[in-house]
Amino acid sequence: MNSLVDTKVPINIDNPAVMFCEDLCIECGACRHSCETDASANSGSQPVCVYCGQCTIVCPSAAITERYDYTDVKKAISDSDKIVVFNIAPAVKVSLGEEFGMPEGCLSEGKIVAALRELGANYVLDVCFSADLTVLEEAAELTERLKSEAVQFPLFTSCCSSWVQYVEAFFPELVPYVSKAKSPIATQGNVVKTYFAGKHNIDPAKIVNVAVAPCTAKKHEISQTNTDYVITARELAKWIKEDGINWDDLQAADYDSLMGTASGAGVIFGNTGGVTEAVARTVYYQMTGKTLGEDYLNFQAARGMNGIKTASVNIAGKMINVAVVHGLDNAKEVVENIIYGKSAYDFVEVMACRGGCIGGGGQPRTAVPTDDNLRKSRVAPLYKKDSDAQLRASYQNPDVKAMEAGV
Ligand code: SF4
Repeated sequence: MNSLVDTKVPINIDNPAVMFCEDLCIECGACRHSCETDASANSGSQPVCVYCGQCTIVCPSAAITERYDYTDVKKAISDSDKIVVFNIAPAVKVSLGEEFGMPEGCLSEGKIVAALRELGANYVLDVCFSADLTVLEEAAELTERLKSEAVQFPLFTSCCSSWVQYVEAFFPELVPYVSKAKSPIATQGNVVKTYFAGKHNIDPAKIVNVAVAPCTAKKHEISQTNTDYVITARELAKWIKEDGINWDDLQAADYDSLMGTASGAGVIFGNTGGVTEAVARTVYYQMTGKTLGEDYLNFQAARGMNGIKTASVNIAGKMINVAVVHGLDNAKEVVENIIYGKSAYDFVEVMACRGGCIGGGGQPRTAVPTDDNLRKSRVAPLYKKDSDAQLRASYQNPDVKAMEAGV
C-alpha cells in the first residue's frame, strides 16, 4: 500500500502543464498541501506531478502558474496561412464570466464564442459534441463488459488526464481496466482534422486546433493528439483583457455548424457525476433498446459534492454498481478498497479535481480558495442546460448521427 511522502512534488523545467518561478515563492507550503491532500501526487516512493494544476489555484504569490500557450495561438491567428479552430469545454462556459464581474455560476457561452471571433477565430466549436462521442464509446465498453462474468476490476473512466497519470504512476496494475475511450478534447482534435476539415475542404495541415479548457493537465494530454494547443480559462480571460475587448459589449454568438450540437449528457461532462449519468443514459438504451425514463435522466445518486458517491442501478434485470469519485485523495481510498476486495463496482468515474472539471486547475481564481459553494454555483447551470435540452442522451445527438452516417 502506498503511503504519503513528506516531499514537495517538483515542478521540472520541462513540465508541460505548470511552471514555477522560485523568485516569487514565499515558501508558504500551500502547493505542497494541495499535492499531499487533493492530488495525493506524492503517494509512493517518488513524488509525481500529475499536472492537475491545483497548485496554481492555491499559490498566493503567482509563483506557480499554468504554462502560457495563448501567445503561440495569437501568432497562429496572425499567420494568414493558418485556419484557427477553437473548441470550448463545458466547464469554461460556467466560469469565465467570473473574470469579468459576472456572478458565480453564470453561463456565458455565447459571449465566449463572440470573444473568440473578435480575437480572430476562424471557427468556434463545442467540445460537448465530442463528449457525446466519448460517452458512446465508454457506454459500449461498459455494455460489453457487463456481458462478461470474468472481469476482475471495474471499468474506470479515462477522460481526466490527471487521473490517468495518477493510475499509471501509482496503480499500474489497473491500467488495463481504464477505458480506451479518448477524452472529449482528444476526440475533438481528431474529428476537427478529419471530418470537419473534409466537410470544409480545408487542408488539415493548415488547421491549428485549440481547446479552451478548465484544465492544465490537458496541456500534457494533447502531446499525442490532433489538438495543437490547450489554453486555460484564465489564459483566455487574460488574452481578452490584454486585447481590450469589452466583455459587457459582447453580443452572444452561436457555434459554427457540424460540431456545434450536443446532448444534455455531453454538457454535464463538466462536473463530477456527469460522465456516469451520461454513460448510464446510453447504457440503458443499449441494453433495453428503449427510450430513457425519468429515473435515468436525473441520476440523483451521482450528483452532489460528496467525494465518494456510490449507487446500484437495475438495468434490464442486471444490477450495476457504480462509484463516482472526485479528488485523488478519494480516488486513492476507492482504488485501495477495490484492490483489497473491500468494495466491488462495475464502473468507476474519477475526476482529479474536486467538483470535477468545474473545479479544474485552469479555472478563474476570482474566489480563492475555491470552495464548494463556488463549485455548486458552477455545476447548477450545467444541470439546468441539461434539463432544458430537448435531447438528453448522447446517442440522440443529430450531428453525431450525421457524422456516423457520412452525411
Ligand atoms: Fe483536468 Fe477535469 Fe481532470 Fe481536473 S478533473 S485534471 S480539470 S480533466
